[in-house]
Amino acid sequence: MSQQIYINGEYFSRADAKVSVYDHGLLYGDGVFEGMRIYSGKVFRLEEHLIRLFESAAAIALPIGMTIQQLAKDTDECVAKNGLDDGYIRLVVTRGCGPLGLDPYKCSDPQIIIIADKISLYPAEMYENGLELITAATIRNHPAALSSRVKSLNYLNNIMAKMEGLRAGCVEALMLNIKGEVAECTGDNIFIVKNGKLSTPPIDAGILEGITRNAVLELAKQAGIETSEHPMTRHDIFIADECFLTGSAAEVIAAVKLDGRTIGDGKPGPITTKLNEAFRKLVRS
Ligand code: PMP
Repeated sequence: MSQQIYINGEYFSRADAKVSVYDHGLLYGDGVFEGMRIYSGKVFRLEEHLIRLFESAAAIALPIGMTIQQLAKDTDECVAKNGLDDGYIRLVVTRGCGPLGLDPYKCSDPQIIIIADKISLYPAEMYENGLELITAATIRNHPAALSSRVKSLNYLNNIMAKMEGLRAGCVEALMLNIKGEVAECTGDNIFIVKNGKLSTPPIDAGILEGITRNAVLELAKQAGIETSEHPMTRHDIFIADECFLTGSAAEVIAAVKLDGRTIGDGKPGPITTKLNEAFRKLVRS
């Protein structure tokens, strides 16, 4: 089945799916997006993703021009049209075309784009053995400048940190906030386990409120694991028993080294494995 890309309610082949070079999404990163997984033909937590999308859009005063229910219907339709059982959805809303200046009020045609595709983020071997992280020198954007809860098209901050990781041979990098506290990774949230308790940085550490993060916190509570959201430093990760990352694309993946220090015994730990199994069950339920 050939790929069908949705733009404003119409479908195009990959070669014909285009936006203007005057689109402020391209010119200024003026827009918002979501990344979601398709499991067994169904988008995982579609409504939560769309609520986050609409909230991101509201925060930047970007009118989407349709309801959450309509966009949910179109997203489901796009998944069906592409015949994907398992895959990934990238939903993008740009400010649309305008003059070359910044003025968003001169843009009147937001572009709603839905791309359904296959995905493989990290090598399978890393899901078995865990991955290694470095701490990026690039500090996570200050949430008072642009709330990290807005999933905007401006990912340069994370991209700079990702480059640092890749240059050091790591597929992910840890980002700290301006206070030196742990924020998140470039495209994933981070968790640690210490003495059987699960913790993750709070939203006001300047992180994206991950849908997978929330799902894992719920699963941990259901499993009777004590959870907390509190500020942490790199030191907390160095001395953690276990560490793992969460994200729609990444799912749940253990991190076994940070800046050359082995975390715990250097293997995906029992709580990580338990939560990973529970997550895999949940997404297929
Ligand atoms: N943090 C950042 C910066 C991200 O880009 C992502 C991926 N969307 C996440 C965390 C994880 O969020 P989610 O679980 O909603 O995919």
